[in-house]
Amino acid sequence: MSLLFTCSIDDGHPLDMRTAELLDKHGLRATFYVPIKNREGSYVMTRENLRELSRRFEVGSHTYDHCYLRELDVRRTYYQISKGKNGLEDVLGLPINGFCYPGGKYSAKDIDMVRACGFVYARTTANLFLDAGHSRLELPTTIQFYPHSRGVYLRNYARSGDWLKRAGPLYLALRNDHWIKRLHALFDHAVEAGRVFHLWGHSKQIDELDAWDEFEAFLAHVGQQVRADARLTNGELVQRVYGVERKVLAPTAAHFKAG
Ligand SMILES: [Zn+2]
Repeated sequence: MSLLFTCSIDDGHPLDMRTAELLDKHGLRATFYVPIKNREGSYVMTRENLRELSRRFEVGSHTYDHCYLRELDVRRTYYQISKGKNGLEDVLGLPINGFCYPGGKYSAKDIDMVRACGFVYARTTANLFLDAGHSRLELPTTIQFYPHSRGVYLRNYARSGDWLKRAGPLYLALRNDHWIKRLHALFDHAVEAGRVFHLWGHSKQIDELDAWDEFEAFLAHVGQQVRADARLTNGELVQRVYGVERKVLAPTAAHFKAG
């Protein structure tokens, strides 16, 4: 079976339009997780950009104002999750099915709330997975496009379980001293032995790292290796792997009529 590739880009920064252009150029699909605004002070793209993005890619929610949920009480959690979803749906006129936990920080009550608010799936920041995990409300990733230290990989590894199957990817991450080499080594391993490669990142970081060329070179490599029908948004990956019914992901008029 050929490798499935998905990409997610977090925080809705205006530079996401540049990232989207590169993904498009190499025929790749992705999901952009966008808060309505960002309490940390980063800019969030305009409504016009958001609408344009949604015509070519999936848009998912990232809370109302990029709030870490774990510290919040239930009332505030509900506010953040439901207002983030409704805000995007009002702008786009589309159902928003995907959610991403800001900072990857969440607890059991947050998973319950994401489900209760009608999301089909939710993405975490667990890394070094070469599959789609065990739960569509805790979708893991493979690697972040960022030069993390070895300590960050080790802590994420320790925290996110499934140690046996993540040991090989961890070894590749620790063995390669340069972060771009690490990314390519993991991808080439996934082509041989993996089911899913899930790249994630932030457009603002790509810009701060001055790594647009490296980012595009990686996308070009992926575009050569992954079959066209295996390049997916996060939502399409969930549908493919977890078998979520189409009517749940995209309600049709007939579905509404049937109640
Ligand atoms: Zn974020």
